[in-house]
Amino acid sequence: MHEFMKHAAPGVAGLQPYKAGKPIEELERELGVSNIIKLASNENPLGPSPQAVAAMQAGLADVWLYPDGNGFALKEKLAALHGVERSQITLGNGSSEPLEFIVRAFVQPGEEVLFSEHSFAIYPIVTQAVGGVGVAAPAKEWGYDLEALKQKISDKTRVVFIANPNNPTGTWLAGPQLEAFIAALPPEIIVVVDEAYYDYASHPALGATGYPDAIEWVAKYPNLMVTRTFSKSYALAGLRVGYAISHPEVAEMMNRVRPPFNVNSLAMVAAVAALEDGDHLRASVQMNSDGMQQLTAAFSAMGLAYIPSVGNFISVDVGRAAAPVYEALLREGVIVRPVANYGMPHHLRVTVGLPEENERFVAALQKVLTA
Ligand SMILES: *Cc1c(COP(=O)(O)O)cnc(C)c1O
Repeated sequence: MHEFMKHAAPGVAGLQPYKAGKPIEELERELGVSNIIKLASNENPLGPSPQAVAAMQAGLADVWLYPDGNGFALKEKLAALHGVERSQITLGNGSSEPLEFIVRAFVQPGEEVLFSEHSFAIYPIVTQAVGGVGVAAPAKEWGYDLEALKQKISDKTRVVFIANPNNPTGTWLAGPQLEAFIAALPPEIIVVVDEAYYDYASHPALGATGYPDAIEWVAKYPNLMVTRTFSKSYALAGLRVGYAISHPEVAEMMNRVRPPFNVNSLAMVAAVAALEDGDHLRASVQMNSDGMQQLTAAFSAMGLAYIPSVGNFISVDVGRAAAPVYEALLREGVIVRPVANYGMPHHLRVTVGLPEENERFVAALQKVLTA
């Protein structure tokens, strides 16, 4: 070990980097299989809105210019959409970035960041990176247990992360319970509601789930921040663009730690265009709803338990150690997501794909489980 390593920040030295879904090209290289489908990263298989693609093509000639570091056009669009001020919006290189900004701005070494067991891996990672202490409250039926969360609050708690719906479980919290939790929090604790799957979770076809739009509460609770992304329902994951809505004072603190040109110009023009294509969003969400039914019906037919999900993914209990099942699926050219690192060693998380992709996954799973 080199001498300088003794000075590595302790939080960083002990960090396990985020494990992403396996890229198609990597599996091609490793196993030489072709015709691969990837249902591992909750991407939207319909692909981006043609309007977003056209906007990027038109924007290509301008890439020699630095982007607008304040993101005026995109913020203007988002402010109108959500009925907030531009000063309440923080744009991020993916919505993961504001999740990191909030921790960098408000958490010092030894202070605590609270989330749930089986919750998004980015929360403990950004916490540990600044020397913070991640505290995971026990889950209830795989989802957030607000009572358990409340009991973990201490005088060291600085930020609470709530993924609604949660990834990788797809579980969600209903509006009244979630708002009551936020209202009862000490006002000096920041609460982040991560709504990466908002468009899927609010689809009317799901029926009366009670799933709320937490942005509506930001005016009431200055310590509330809500994040959304263009990576999932808007199918722009490769561009890396997302945002947070908060009180302007919170936004201002995050702006101080934000790299000056963190969102690129193509991402911003594409995001604006994507917001204008309501038809594409509705088609995406409808396809997901149909695909979710296709998958859950297949799981039931196979006698496999699954966690009911309002996202564009679902975690299924394969009834045995999931790692070998994941490996065997890879050999069938199907990439899903193992979630043992989320404390779910018998589950696999699968993203809802195109109808024919779902069919291929189901056939491969059946083959692997009966082999
Ligand atoms: C995918 C996801 C995000 C968003 O990631 P981006 O950085 O916007 O691509 C945030 N939170 C959760 C829970 C997610 O699953």
